[in-house]
Amino acid sequence: MKIKSAEFVVSNSDVSKCPKNSIPEYAFIGRSNVGKSSLINMLTSRKSLAKTSGRPGKTQLINHFIINDNWYLVDLPGYGYARVSKTSKKTFQKFITQYFALREQLVSAFVLVDIRHNPQPIDLEFMQWLGEHGIPFSIIFTKADKLKPKAIDNHIESYKNVLLETWEEMPNYFITSSSKNIGKEDVLEYIDSLNSN
Ligand code: GDP
Repeated sequence: MKIKSAEFVVSNSDVSKCPKNSIPEYAFIGRSNVGKSSLINMLTSRKSLAKTSGRPGKTQLINHFIINDNWYLVDLPGYGYARVSKTSKKTFQKFITQYFALREQLVSAFVLVDIRHNPQPIDLEFMQWLGEHGIPFSIIFTKADKLKPKAIDNHIESYKNVLLETWEEMPNYFITSSSKNIGKEDVLEYIDSLNSN
């Protein structure tokens, strides 16, 4: 898919105020610092569409971007930031639950995972939750440039082993690096294929 246009539309803390039209949308979510903003910038070929930030946990909003005038890319807040209080963790949960419960326009979520880390309970629990609520998702492994090909294979393998304890099959996944521009076309082609269904 060629990106002809990518524009910020609106930021919200209230799901009911998100765009009301029926344009298909794709939500990107993951632990703080996973490389979500960098990935969004890579996908859209824009340097700073999503604000990369040295301060994880800062963006606690639902951000809608319109791509090629025909689909929304939704940047959701990062989760699992250790320094946020219990109250803001609760607020976050409610907010995300509402987003996924109410957004009928959502075609698929992308759960971002840093490829260097072993499967983390918070990511696994989140994927489990999506599965239980019937929300389609793919996994995007980020920062692939940080590992050698063999180590990438090993990490994917260990992820598969853990997921297959609870899932019948490994969810669809992508291997990406925003620094090295890897995986961009795979993700965009996938979105394109879902858009034309
Ligand atoms: P976010 O908090 O999930 O939006 O993450 P950012 O996109 O702001 O990235 C967090 C940190 O990881 C920054 O220091 C980025 O430079 C770095 N980073 C993001 N993507 C990559 C990548 O593909 N490769 C490498 N080596 N570093 C990355």
